[in-house]
Amino acid sequence: MDKSKRKVVIAGNWKMNMTPSEAKAAVAETAALTDSMTGCDVVLCVPFVDIAAAVEAAKGTNVKIGAQNVHFEAKGAFTGEISASMLLECGVEYVIIGHSERRQYFGETDETVNLRTKAALAAGLKVILCLGEIKEERLAGITDEVVAMQTKLDLAGISADDMKNVIIAYEPVWAIGTGLTATPDQADETCGVIRATLAKLYGADLADATVIQYGGSMNDGNAAELLSKVNVDGGLIGGASLVPAKFAKIVEAAQA
Ligand code: PEP
Repeated sequence: MDKSKRKVVIAGNWKMNMTPSEAKAAVAETAALTDSMTGCDVVLCVPFVDIAAAVEAAKGTNVKIGAQNVHFEAKGAFTGEISASMLLECGVEYVIIGHSERRQYFGETDETVNLRTKAALAAGLKVILCLGEIKEERLAGITDEVVAMQTKLDLAGISADDMKNVIIAYEPVWAIGTGLTATPDQADETCGVIRATLAKLYGADLADATVIQYGGSMNDGNAAELLSKVNVDGGLIGGASLVPAKFAKIVEAAQA
C-alpha cells in the first residue's frame, strides 16, 4: 500500500452555520492561517447562500469551496433544490453527497446518493461521498459489510475515469457531532475495508489512488494520530471547521 500516491484532503463541513458575512470573514481567516500549508488540499463546504461570499474570499488562496448537497436533475420543477451546473457557475469545486444528516433527516438513500454523485461528476464537480455505519451496526459486528455495501451501491455505474474526482469520507454515524471518535485503528481498519471494496470494483491501482477521509469528531487534538494511519488520507470535519484556528491546526497536522 503506497500512501504517497494520494494527496491528503482536509475538508470542513460547516453544515447550517454562518451567514454570508460570517462566511466571508471565516474563509479569509482560514486562508490566511493555512496558505503556507501546501502539503494537503483544503476545502470548506459552505451553505448554498454563502457560496458567493466564500468563493470571493477564497480567490487567490489555497482554500477551495464546496457545497453540501446537489440535486440529480439538471433543471426543472424541484422547488428548493440546486443543480450541479448552478454550483459550478458559482465557482464551487467540491460537493458533499450522502452526508449521514441527509440520510437520517432528509430521506437520502443509497439510490439517490448514487444519482446525485453521477450528476455532480457529469457536470465536472469533485464529490466527497459520505458513508458509514450506525452505532447498532458497529455493535452487531457488521460494519465491514455495511460500508462495503454502501460503497458498491453509491458508486454503481460510476466509471474508473470518473473515480479520479471522487473522495470517500468514512464517517461512522455514531461519531458525528457526538464527541466520540473512532479510534485511529478503527478508522484505519474501516477505511481499509472501503479500499479493498474499491479494489474489487476497479482494481488495486485505482483503490491505491483514491482518497479516503475519516470524519467524526476529528479535532486539533486527535487529527495527527488519525491522519498518521496508512488508510486515512484526510478528514471531513464538522464542528472544528467553524473555528479557523482549530481547523488550521488540523491542516497543520496533515502536513507531516
Ligand atoms: C461531519 O459533519 O461530517 C462531521 C464529521 O462532524 P463533526 O466533526 O462535528 O463530528
